[in-house]
Amino acid sequence: MRTFNFSAGPAVLPESVLRRAADEMLDWHGSGMSVMEMSHRGREFISIFDKTEADLRQLLAIPSNYRVLFLQGGAMAENAIIPMNLLGGRTKADYVNTGEWSKKSIKEAGKYCTVNVAASAEDRNFTYVPPQQDWKLDPDAAYVHVCTNETIGGVEYHWVPDTGAVPIVADMSSHILSRVIDVSRYGVIYGGAQKNIGPAGLTLVIVRDDLLDRALPITPSAFHWKEQAEAGSMLNTPPTYGIYIAGLVFEWLLEQGGVAAIEQLNIAKAALLYDYLDRSGFYVNPVARSDRSRMNIPFHLRDPKLDGEFLRGAEANGMVQLKGHRVVGGMRASIYNAMPIEGVRALVSYMQEFERTHG
Ligand SMILES: *Cc1c(COP(=O)(O)O)cnc(C)c1O
Repeated sequence: MRTFNFSAGPAVLPESVLRRAADEMLDWHGSGMSVMEMSHRGREFISIFDKTEADLRQLLAIPSNYRVLFLQGGAMAENAIIPMNLLGGRTKADYVNTGEWSKKSIKEAGKYCTVNVAASAEDRNFTYVPPQQDWKLDPDAAYVHVCTNETIGGVEYHWVPDTGAVPIVADMSSHILSRVIDVSRYGVIYGGAQKNIGPAGLTLVIVRDDLLDRALPITPSAFHWKEQAEAGSMLNTPPTYGIYIAGLVFEWLLEQGGVAAIEQLNIAKAALLYDYLDRSGFYVNPVARSDRSRMNIPFHLRDPKLDGEFLRGAEANGMVQLKGHRVVGGMRASIYNAMPIEGVRALVSYMQEFERTHG
């Protein structure tokens, strides 16, 4: 019996993907091998890899002048890898601070360059996205870094910044493939796979090819985007099994009608929960309405003494991983692509019942 899993990551995967992986575990397509046992340079794995990349390109309509890299290290490693790959002859980069993940990016980048915090939402406890007119961009910055969905605070960009000729670098770890994006507006898009794509261990980097020649000489080869692009992400062994599962998720997404279709469902799922939160006086979501995340929805009980009982009751009703991040407290419901709308309905009815009996 599967639960409704509201974990922020690693997170729920489509059940059909897990079943397919189980069916193919011992013998992938008559090869007599598990995908885990295949050489990354063998014919079988190369066919998996090529289809995975082609499906991702189709899902996000990635233009041909962008390279897709399947790397390791997670989004946290990218916080160091990004300045190393993009500073070139420059010494400065702009960062917009919208919460916990932005803060981590800023701290790490500071080891490699002078960070200009172009805007910060700290004044209102990271509950909004600073509007573009308040950004103080540095024209000499090598790039502008944004986290387009703050997984912990539940704050999402619903617009694309305009940074002129300076490339935007976007951490999309927790909402990539949840909504239609115009890839051509970004210089680099990156994310760990374990939120909305597949298992932990795979890191996706989508980079415009004119940005591939700016790496500092100290850049490690395994994290040197140009070297990895030239090697087809196989300068070293890529996370093969993670790529295979991501490929199954991409196939599943195409079957659902692609990103535009899943976006409509994501809008409906998020609306169910936010509408209820806003009608209730018992629960609160602190994020500005225009900047609320469709993927990660934090909420508080007005009386935090009831938190433990709320969580135990949820678990008894088959809903797990609803405890909020320790920085924010309270609860958080992560409702990624693979969370069925029935899971959100079940959560809202549990919340209503809990309010009725404790309000
Ligand atoms: C989870 C997350 C990260 C960290 O990813 P790792 O794979 O653990 O390094 C970074 N940024 C965002 C927005 C995230 O949600």
